[in-house]
Amino acid sequence: MKEKTSLNRRVETEAVRIQAERTQFQEHSVPMYLTSSFVFEDAEDMRASFAEEIDRNIYSRYSNPNSTEFIDKVCAMEGAEAGFAFASGMAAVFSTFAALLEGGDHVLAAQSIFGSTHSLFSQVFPKWDIHHDYFKIDELETIESLVTPKTKMIYAETPTNPGVDILDLEKLGRIAKKHGLLLLIDNCFASPYLQQPIRFGADLVIHSGTKLMDGQGRVLAGVTVGRADLIDRIYRFARITGPALSPFNAWVLSKSMETLAVRVDRHCENALQLAQFLEGHPKVEQVKYPFLKSHPQYEVARKQMKAGGCVVAFTLKGGLESGQRFFDAIRLLSLSANLGDSRSIVTHPASTTHSKLSKAEREEAGISEGMVRISVGLEHIEDILQDIAQALDKVW
Ligand SMILES: *Cc1c(COP(=O)(O)O)cnc(C)c1O
Repeated sequence: MKEKTSLNRRVETEAVRIQAERTQFQEHSVPMYLTSSFVFEDAEDMRASFAEEIDRNIYSRYSNPNSTEFIDKVCAMEGAEAGFAFASGMAAVFSTFAALLEGGDHVLAAQSIFGSTHSLFSQVFPKWDIHHDYFKIDELETIESLVTPKTKMIYAETPTNPGVDILDLEKLGRIAKKHGLLLLIDNCFASPYLQQPIRFGADLVIHSGTKLMDGQGRVLAGVTVGRADLIDRIYRFARITGPALSPFNAWVLSKSMETLAVRVDRHCENALQLAQFLEGHPKVEQVKYPFLKSHPQYEVARKQMKAGGCVVAFTLKGGLESGQRFFDAIRLLSLSANLGDSRSIVTHPASTTHSKLSKAEREEAGISEGMVRISVGLEHIEDILQDIAQALDKVW
């Protein structure tokens, strides 16, 4: 855990310039601190370190200079007080809930959430008597009728995965405040560059660093940032249970954060162009992209996001069968389950990321059998369009 550095620079600059203290070698690029532990000067230093009278690294399960640097960058971009970095996005999601919830507590979660987070609610937390209800993402007012005396928090993602629906963060912030609930937002699809939920009242923001933050499909990572008092509880939980990010992955991520803004700008430019292309295509039934005027929550997206993100969702005419022919005809793009990568990726959510949900649950979450999710990468847009166009030619 590390408190945010209070520099008054633009976030793009912070992401480049925040840096662990230089060693005696005066390196320009930060070295990797591949060390499990750190040494003490003397007995008093050792005692004071463990008594937390001084802020220093003790053991890399607790903190490490590479993780701290990465966390500081995320905090600067999100406008957060503090954070903790995890070995994966799911480690961040799980540890955040597990640190803050008690047996008997109740969570209100948006109906459209990441598949494994869904499974966490249905398969893991009931073991500890932690329960949930889902609210409809297009009727946020209904949240209020679901609040019980045991409700502790509201949990949501926006844009959602895979349908790229948009939830109104300002509205969520108001409802959470009115009922004294914590508001947790998984901001993975937007990245801290496009959207800062804390501005709208979120208490904590969670990311899978595996996606846009790394952006090159190399490492798994997660991070939770937000209110210092809550992060302190998460830190204490994580310190005991051990989900910390490795220094190597933290180093990779911290370097990636230097290019996040320029990468995401290009992702969004390419994605908008692809969405516009698909919107006019005769074989496409429906296209969803937050910055398309036809998106049902276009106005909300414009209010809370800087651009529309890297993911475009669409449904082919002819449902699942057309979808399968489309996937088999793809030549350049990767068939993979990741997103936010420099390489464009096509995914079939119903048979991959959300296959653990029942068909009814998928329908409720707005995931049709024929839905295609494209994470638009950094290839030249003409090459992306060409591949999609030739694949669409082959569906029927
Ligand atoms: C990928 C993802 C996660 C989980 O992250 P991992 O790094 O794969 O563990 C959580 N939430 C969302 C929205 C994601 O896309």
